[in-house]
Amino acid sequence: MTLVTLKDVLQPALRDGYAVGGLVCLGWEDMRAYVAAAEAENCPVILQAGPGCRAHTPLPVLGKMFRHLAEEATVPVVAHLDHGYTYDECSEALDAGFTSLMFDGSRKPLVDNIKETLQIVEMAHRSGISCEGEIGFVGYSGGEESAGTDPGEAAQFAAETGVDAMAISVGNVHLQQDKEGGLDEPRIAAIQAMTSVPLVIHGGSGVPIAQRNHLAKNTNICKFNIGTELRMAFGAAMRDAVNSDPERFDRVSILKETHDPVMAAARTVLRNLKG
Ligand SMILES: [Zn+2]
Repeated sequence: MTLVTLKDVLQPALRDGYAVGGLVCLGWEDMRAYVAAAEAENCPVILQAGPGCRAHTPLPVLGKMFRHLAEEATVPVVAHLDHGYTYDECSEALDAGFTSLMFDGSRKPLVDNIKETLQIVEMAHRSGISCEGEIGFVGYSGGEESAGTDPGEAAQFAAETGVDAMAISVGNVHLQQDKEGGLDEPRIAAIQAMTSVPLVIHGGSGVPIAQRNHLAKNTNICKFNIGTELRMAFGAAMRDAVNSDPERFDRVSILKETHDPVMAAARTVLRNLKG
């Protein structure tokens, strides 16, 4: 049993200068490959269920799947809710066995974001699990624009909510398919000069690999969320598997062929976050 909380994996990362992968899960095939990758790299992993995943598979089912994988794993595994938007959704994830709740109040005015995040932090901590909040707004490629995190607001948010991890907007954008973005390192430095809460980068797929590694080692960024990059590996592998034999219709035999490529892609992600 290696099910742990977000705080359990991020505090050692903060202390020792590395980051942990928050890997975006869409189903059994990818989450299983991510845990196999973490075991092969001998590092912790955060399994994340975001809104897309939850629209496809109910939270109680996802909680059971994450916990089953954690129970069998030889490395620490966090069962994390990504982008919970309401108290009820976070409460449902807690009841489903998740060990970490991200509450995303980043579209709300600061005072409301602080007030509502604090309620989730209190609920999480009462049950001995963790909470991640977001300050500033991380936009979406081809969609909503980002609003960069103000260092003073970040310090206030961290102090008044007591979050275990804080997602920041420093040039990162969700759903980017290339790695040309690059993050605003002076802004990261300004934020961590004012608070020691572990920092989280959503939209990690858009960050150049060398910069991920540099930031993991040298800043308080302790968690990179990686989704798009791994979904692309999964999609390419599945397309190959389907096209390789037009007669084949059994989806288990098709999906089986995604395991090795997704595991290899996840290993590369995790290896580059090590200190
Ligand atoms: Zn996100």
